[in-house]
Amino acid sequence: MSQILQEVLAANAQYQASFGEKTNLQLPPARGFAILTCMDARLDPAKYAGLAEGDAHVIRNAGGRASDDAIRSLVISYKLLGTKEWFVIHHTDCGMQYFTDDVIRELLAQSLETATVDATGWHDVGQGPGSDEARFVAFLPFRDLADSVVEDVARIRRHPLVPTTIPIYGYIYDVKSGKLIEVPAATKAGSVG
Ligand code: ZN
Repeated sequence: MSQILQEVLAANAQYQASFGEKTNLQLPPARGFAILTCMDARLDPAKYAGLAEGDAHVIRNAGGRASDDAIRSLVISYKLLGTKEWFVIHHTDCGMQYFTDDVIRELLAQSLETATVDATGWHDVGQGPGSDEARFVAFLPFRDLADSVVEDVARIRRHPLVPTTIPIYGYIYDVKSGKLIEVPAATKAGSVG
């Protein structure tokens, strides 16, 4: 068994041993809101937003982008599980700012192994073959952080399956301080009405 697998199962045994009242948690999020945020390992939405188990939906992907699949989850979150306010939270030093679709497609075309990066950019060092399949994937990288929050909030706001009654707040999490910083143009784009 891998070291990681052992560690995860040991941690889970401890967690389960003190599970207590959480056995009674209900399916709909008790505090009625949802957060769309990045998968970055430095972000812990439960901590930065004060969540306990059962409180809120947290939808995560690379960048915290409003992809079709993220919107699928948000629509379920509201339509079937009753959330009433949504947050889109991107963050400083996001990896999505450090490549383009062309770059990752070229790397994947050469090999599927992990690439390296240095001051001159990304380099593929793996053994091929790679795959051209990445040409059909939109990886949704971005250049400007604040603009990406506005873009995602606006896309969710405009979506025909999203009711106009849900406020959508746009924030940036600062990985150096842990602070949530509002993107006023995003929150404006996500306002009700
Ligand atoms: Zn990120």
